[in-house]
Amino acid sequence: MIIKKLPLGPIQANTYIVFDENTKEAIVIEASGDANSIKAEIDALGAKLKYVLLTHGHFDHVFAVNDVKILYPDVKVFINKEDEVLIQNVSLQCAHFGIDGIEKPRIDEYINENTKLFLGDIEIKIIHTPGHSKGSVCYLLGENLFSGDTLFFEEIGRCDLFGGSFSEIEKSIRNKIFILDKNITIYPGHGENTSIEHEIKFNAYFGENSRY
Ligand SMILES: [Zn+2]
Repeated sequence: MIIKKLPLGPIQANTYIVFDENTKEAIVIEASGDANSIKAEIDALGAKLKYVLLTHGHFDHVFAVNDVKILYPDVKVFINKEDEVLIQNVSLQCAHFGIDGIEKPRIDEYINENTKLFLGDIEIKIIHTPGHSKGSVCYLLGENLFSGDTLFFEEIGRCDLFGGSFSEIEKSIRNKIFILDKNITIYPGHGENTSIEHEIKFNAYFGENSRY
């Protein structure tokens, strides 16, 4: 598995391209900006794009969904249904951050923890982690967890936006992420990578030496 990280869009949210060398399939996790840069990476890998998976419906993560759909009209875009309300209101979200609005991103299917998705032979496990938004999910492929804005390097996602809840994000992180294999690498929606082991020790909110 090859993972490429592209910080893109108005506030540099991470778009990830995950490539399976065996089948030459790729998925894109988030579509945060500049669809042409995303396509250039996919082409450089010689990959066939299979899915676009969104961790949640905030504007900075879905900013280029429609542009990606223009380049790849047959590729399905997935999100958890509980964030549909954010997709509907994406222009309002942009206005809140002082950014020009975008058209409503085109979603093809809703996913939940029971949805079965694969990249080649690799199962894509979907973990519902509400708290940053109601419909936030993480995607686990082997030893790699794509955590969206739920968990960052020594930090957590903000809980003061629409649908956010501190008690929910605490439950999600403690009961659904910290119980995973310690060696798993975390690829967050913003900033640098981390690991489950590192966050259990050093996360500012829920780590063993937390500041709060
Ligand atoms: Zn977010």
